[in-house]
Order: sequence, then structure tokens, then C-alpha cells
Amino acid sequence: MGGKVAIITGGSRGIGKAVVEKFAGAGIKVYFTYANSEDSAAKLAEKCGATAIRCPQNDSEKIAETVDKIYAENGTIDILVNNAGITRDNLLMRMSDEEWNAVISTNLSSCFYLSRNLVRAMMGKRWGRIINISSVSGIAGNAGQANYSAAKAGIIGFTKTLARELAARNITANAVAPGFIETDMTAKLPENIMEAAKAAIPLKRFGKPDDIARVCAFLASEEASYITGQVISVNGGLVI
Ligand code: NAP
Repeated sequence: MGGKVAIITGGSRGIGKAVVEKFAGAGIKVYFTYANSEDSAAKLAEKCGATAIRCPQNDSEKIAETVDKIYAENGTIDILVNNAGITRDNLLMRMSDEEWNAVISTNLSSCFYLSRNLVRAMMGKRWGRIINISSVSGIAGNAGQANYSAAKAGIIGFTKTLARELAARNITANAVAPGFIETDMTAKLPENIMEAAKAAIPLKRFGKPDDIARVCAFLASEEASYITGQVISVNGGLVI
């Protein structure tokens, strides 16, 4: 993968961080965004030789600026991983407009903004990989996550549409749908929910960020050149 340029959103922690490490290790020139975690972003950038850019993913102007900067430096962006995401869980009857809008804009609208800015150049180059991080909640739904499940299901429809629009230009678009992965996002779950989740997972454990990073690396590679419009579940068998 040497010589390719990638942008990964939400690379400062968790799954995105594992993707940054995996891609940088494969010789890809990596740019990654973050919103708040300046210290861990800077440390990761230094460790991997990647570039960290503070870019809140719900700010379409800042996203356009970020894309322009990467093009100016490289003349190309070959791989996009839309990973940044948040949760604001609540039961539907108690969910505020703020909780709904924050999750839809950070998790779903961000994919639209960034993909729209990138595809023209990918089309010109006739090569591109778009990998969107969905969730088991977008496939099966999850009580308390109407906002998150809607965003993650939206990512699946969005991905399938990109796959159809872009296939003729040799650009693939796929979604990865993690189950429970050990990151800050799941660390804040109450103990009883974690135990119930582990009991329901046939492999009886949560996944590691690297389980997702390996699938992203495969989808970004030439090995996956005939796979597009798919949703790859990585969930220990939670949904079969
Ligand atoms: P995490 O540990 O909470 O990390 C989230 C990352 O997203 C951080 O790098 C964070 O940056 C970044 N981010 C959040 N809001 C952002 C914004 N507005 N603009 C730019 N970056 C932003 O989460 P994770 O568990 O790694 O999750 C990564 C993705 O996988 C998400 O899309 C999530 O929905 C999905 N997923 C996770 C699981 C799981 O079990 N962990 C399961 C299914 C799907 P800062 O550090 O700067 O805040």
C-alpha cells in the first residue's frame, strides 16, 4: 500500500487509532482527524509518522479546508475511513433534540461531507476506497439508541449508494459493522449491561480495536478490489 494517502476520521482514540497504526504500518501516508484529544492525537502522530488535524466532523467548512490541505500536500487522497462517532443514549420518549442532532451530525452527516469532498478526485484517478464504520445497532437496532441506530443504518444505505454511483470509476465503498469493541465508548457502559452483552456474544468476549483495523486494511487493499457495497460484521457472532 506504499504511496497511497489516507484520511481517517476520529483517529485519536479507540478503533480509529488502531486503523491509523495499521495503515501507517502498511506504508500508507496517513492523515487523521480528532475533535478534542489533542495530546493523544499528537503522541499517535509522532509514533506513526502520521499527521493529526483538529477537525470536528460536523463542521462542513472545516472538512472542506482539511481536504484542500491534504490535496495541496499530496495531489491525491486514495482512501477514506469515516470512523468518528459518538453516543448520546436515551430512551426515545426522553431523547432531546440536542441528543438526536449531535449523533446524526457527527456520525452520519460527517460521512456525507467528507465523501462529497473526496470523490471527484478519486473519480479522476479511477481508484479509491471508502470505508464507513457502521454498527451492529444499525443492523439490529438497540433500545436506548434511536439516534445512534438511525445514523448507523443511514451509513449502510449511504455506503450502498456510493458503491453504485462510483463503481464505474473503480472506487469501492463498504461498511464495517462492529459489535462490542473494547474502547472508551464501551468502557462507560454499566457493568450489568457489559456482562449481559458478553453472555449474548457467542465468542463470549468483546472485540479489540485491531479486529476492526484488520478488516479496514483488507478492504483498503488490492486484495479487496472486487468487494463493494457490502456490510462486513465483526461482532463475535452477536448477530447471526
Ligand atoms: P471512541 O473510543 O469514543 O473514539 C471516538 C473517536 O471519534 C475519537 O478519536 C474522537 O476524537 C472522535 N470524534 C468524536 N467526535 C468527533 C467529532 N465531532 N469530530 C471529529 N472526531 C470526533 O469510539 P470508538 O469505540 O473507537 O468508535 C469508533 C467508531 O466505531 C464510531 O463510529 C462508533 O460508533 C463505531 N462503533 C464502535 C463500537 C464499539 O463497541 N466501540 C461498536 C460499533 C461501532 P476525540 O478523541 O478528539 O474526542
